[in-house]
Amino acid sequence: MALYLVGGVVRDLLLGRKTLDLDLTVEGDGLAFARSVAGRYKASVVQYERFATARLVLPDGQKIDIASTRRESYADPAALPKVEPSSVRVDLFRRDFTINAMAVQLNAGNFGLLHDPYSGQRDLRSKTLRVLHEESFRDDPTRIFRAIRFMQRFGFSLESGSRRLLAEAAAANLISRLSGPRLRNEVLLLLAEHQPSRATDWLVRLNLLRFLHPRLRYTRRVKRLLDAVSPACAWWAKLRSAPSVERPVICLMALLSEAGPSILRSVAQRMNLSSGQSAAIDWSGSQTDLILKRLLQNRELRPSQVYRLLIGLPPEALVLLAAKMQLPAAGREARRCRQRLARYMKRDRHAAIAVRGEDLKKLGLKPGPRFKSILDRLLGARLDGKVKTEAEEREMAYRMVARSG
Ligand code: ATP
Repeated sequence: MALYLVGGVVRDLLLGRKTLDLDLTVEGDGLAFARSVAGRYKASVVQYERFATARLVLPDGQKIDIASTRRESYADPAALPKVEPSSVRVDLFRRDFTINAMAVQLNAGNFGLLHDPYSGQRDLRSKTLRVLHEESFRDDPTRIFRAIRFMQRFGFSLESGSRRLLAEAAAANLISRLSGPRLRNEVLLLLAEHQPSRATDWLVRLNLLRFLHPRLRYTRRVKRLLDAVSPACAWWAKLRSAPSVERPVICLMALLSEAGPSILRSVAQRMNLSSGQSAAIDWSGSQTDLILKRLLQNRELRPSQVYRLLIGLPPEALVLLAAKMQLPAAGREARRCRQRLARYMKRDRHAAIAVRGEDLKKLGLKPGPRFKSILDRLLGARLDGKVKTEAEEREMAYRMVARSG
């Protein structure tokens, strides 16, 4: 069987960029090839019969995608294509851009032979992004987002014909026909790029934010906030035991930071966000603004007060809060605020008390709302250093129970 390395990995090799995504394609039965390789290298294999593709996972975790060379036809714009076997040349023609339409043969004898029927190498040299045919963006509007990603990532320009086609596709309502998961995938991949605000500038220039919500506004503050997300994530990653966060989701929150609750809900629905992502998105705007205001305005906040402000926030909202602290509006208090946030993350959010509800019962208190308020006050006293030992805590509990009679 003729075997090729294909697509983005070839582009990245020619650009001298590191890549870990290995895409192989076989002229013939890719699934049979995948099964045979899996047996030989003790890899696990997942097969996707519909597209005649498979994914191998090698014992060291490395993933390799294997496909059969194929032709794709689009019955309906924005729908998934019909596929049938073909030669490598035809397979390369179904790809998005010439720079992604190259293959390198891997068989002994022809090892390293570059197949470049659409002059991808020429376009790589001249830093040009070019679609392969007029219908490309109509066939698959996700390519609109892919064009932005590659222009942005590599600093390439769109060839003039492709630019016209992109503008036409963006002006038409093709993207509204994409399913929620496909739209989510593309938007989050775009926001995962190195400079998400530049990628977002393109969305604005092409008036594509309307596909998330027609009333979404992109202000200077939103752009600044987007720029502040990466440094905030870097700061977060250095905090001891901070849970991992999805940077693209925080970028999406920044993008939505001036939207009201109904827009947030509608975007989450349109993008088919997971429940965790939707819960984070709820904290994009006024909720975190309000917390920030409290943190900035009250210089004397005790650790227990900071704790109560922050305890309900998902990690992505805490990182967004850190990014908001970086905006010029936060002023000179920003540093102190960040220190408070760091203290909360490193220490206070783990705080616990020894006294339990059971202990209060033993002291003669009947179960009821007083339970929670006494336990809350004990935790507050611990956080603020008013009680330091378990004995002091029990003593304080005893006094409070006695007082509540
Ligand atoms: P990245 O570096 O962002 O992963 P990539 O080019 O490797 O970019 P993949 O999504 O991994 O992108 O796709 C691998 C290859 O599959 C592409 O290089 C391209 O040849 C082809 N491809 C992927 N998506 C499309 C699409 N929507 N339309 C046409 N070809 C596509």
